[in-house]
Amino acid sequence: MLNMQTKYVVILGSLMSGLGKGVVTSSILKLLDFYGYKVLPIKFDGYLNYDCGTMNPYQHGEVFVLDDSSEVDMDFGIYERFLNRSLTGDLSITGGKLFSSITSKERKGEYLGETVQIIPHLTSEIIHRVEGIAISKSPDVLVIEVGGTVGDLENNYFIEAMRQLSLKHDVVFVNLTYIPELAAVGEQKTKPAQIGLRMLLQAGINPDFLICRTSSKLTQSAKEKLALFGNMEKEMIIDDPDLPTLYSLPLRFMEQGFDRLLISKLGLKQKDADAVKLDAWKSRVQRVVSPSRSTSIAIVGKYTSLRDSYASVKEALVHAGSAADSRVDISWVEASGLEGDGADMSALKSVDGIIVTGGFGTRGTEGMINALQYARENGIPCLGICLGMQLMTAEYARNVCAMKGANSSEFDSKSRYKVIDLLKSQRSVKDKGGTMRLGAQDCIIDRTSMVHGLYGRDVVSERHRHRYEFNNKYRRALSRKGLRIAAVTKDKKLVEFIEWPSGFGVGTQAHPELKSRLDDPAPLFVGLVNAAVQRHVRNDSSR
Ligand code: GLN
Repeated sequence: MLNMQTKYVVILGSLMSGLGKGVVTSSILKLLDFYGYKVLPIKFDGYLNYDCGTMNPYQHGEVFVLDDSSEVDMDFGIYERFLNRSLTGDLSITGGKLFSSITSKERKGEYLGETVQIIPHLTSEIIHRVEGIAISKSPDVLVIEVGGTVGDLENNYFIEAMRQLSLKHDVVFVNLTYIPELAAVGEQKTKPAQIGLRMLLQAGINPDFLICRTSSKLTQSAKEKLALFGNMEKEMIIDDPDLPTLYSLPLRFMEQGFDRLLISKLGLKQKDADAVKLDAWKSRVQRVVSPSRSTSIAIVGKYTSLRDSYASVKEALVHAGSAADSRVDISWVEASGLEGDGADMSALKSVDGIIVTGGFGTRGTEGMINALQYARENGIPCLGICLGMQLMTAEYARNVCAMKGANSSEFDSKSRYKVIDLLKSQRSVKDKGGTMRLGAQDCIIDRTSMVHGLYGRDVVSERHRHRYEFNNKYRRALSRKGLRIAAVTKDKKLVEFIEWPSGFGVGTQAHPELKSRLDDPAPLFVGLVNAAVQRHVRNDSSR
C-alpha cells in the first residue's frame, strides 16, 4: 500500500557544514505548520552509530532525547523547538540503523540468492522506511533533512535514494548553499554555489529552490546568476541572511514569498495562514529581538568550549527570556576553573542567576559544587539540571548537614555519604547504548513546593538521561535540615525535584530544557529568568 497523498520536501546542503540546515528545515516545517498542513521531519545521518547515545558531546554536540527514549541528533531539538511538537525516534534514520537491518535481513535469508548492494538494497531500505512513516503517520508533508554535505561518501546513498523517491512521489528539492562576500571585493560571489549545484546535477537532482546562506540579503544580480546556472526562476532563489535570532527565519522566508511558492510547487491547496499562530510567533520573536528588560545567567558546565553541547539549555533561556520579556546574557563558566580551596569565584559575582548543567565523569564536579555553594550562600537564583541536581544534593549534605565528603558514587565510590547512587536496575547493565534511564517520565509535585507554583500542575512529564539517583537512605536526614523533596515518581521511589529552603534554588533529575519551545517555554527556566530579572532590578536600584 502506498500513501500517495503525502508530499515530500528534501533538503540537501552543499559546500560545507555549519550553514544551519537544521534551522532551514525547521523553518520550512514551521511555514507549512502556519498554513495548517500536518508536517513531520525525517533526518538522515550517514554515520554508522546506531544512534547518538554513545557519542561524546564534545565531538557531536548535545545528545537530544525524545519522549519515547530515543537518543537522537541535536537537529531534533531544533525541529521540536520550532514546531512545538514531540517527535519520535523512527524519524531518525542513521547509517547504523540501516546497515544493522540490512545485515540482519541478509542473515535471515530475506535476500536469498542476491548480491546485497548499496543500490538497490540500501536505497530501497531507505525508501521503505520513509514510505512506512508516510503510511503510519499520514502527514501532508514529510520534510527530510539529509545530513552531511553533497559529495560526502557517507550521504551519497541517501541522495540517490531521494532521487529514486522523486520518481514515485511528489518531491520538492531544496538546496542550501553558501554565498561568501569578500570584504575586499564587496560583492556576493556565486561560484561556490554554482559548483555545489553542478554536483547535485551530477547526482541527477535539479533542485527546485536554492536557499543561500549569506551575511546580508541577496542582491538581484546574484539571484539572476544563480537562477541561470540552476535552471530556476529567479523567485526560487531565497536568501537566508544573518538574523538577530534564528526564530525569525520563517518570517524572512515569508517576506520573500517562499511559503506560497513552496505550497504551489508541492501541489497543495493555497489557503490563508493561521493568523493567531503567526501573530503569536511574531510577538515571541519580537520579544527575543528587542526585550524591555535584561539579566545575566552563568552556565556552569564541563563542556563549555563547545557551545553545541548545551544547545537546548541555551535555547531554553532564549524561550524563557521571551516569556519574561528580558534579554538573557549568558556567560559560560568552565566548572574545572572553579576548583580547589579558595577558588576564584569572580566569574559568578556579577551574574543574576546560575545554571549547573548535566554531564558525565568526575572532571569539573568539585567546581560545580563550589558554584552551588556560592549561589546558595549568596542568594543567587540557581537551577541544577541532572548532574547539577545530584551535586546540589552533595553540596547541601556536605555544607548544611555536616556529611563530610558527601558525593555521588559515580565520582567517589568510597565516600561515607553516597547521597547519589547507582539505581539497582543499573547495576547489572553492561551495554552502553540505550541503557540509561531515558525518555519522558511522569512525576508528582508536592503542592506546597515552589516547583508546583512554576508548573501549576500536580503531575508533570520531563525527559531523562542518567544512571544515578538521589539515595533514599538520605531523604529524611536532608529534608530535616531543610532540603525540600519537591517531586517524586508516581511510585514514590525516586526523587525528581529538590529545592533549597529559601530563595530560588531548584534541582531536577530531568532535563527540562529538552521540552522547552519558543511557543511553550520550560517553566523552571521561566522561573529562573524571572527570579534573575528581579535580582538584577534589586541590584540596580541598590547600586
Ligand atoms: N552522570 C550522571 C548520571 O549518569 C548525570 C547524567 C546527566 O547529567 N545527564 O546519573
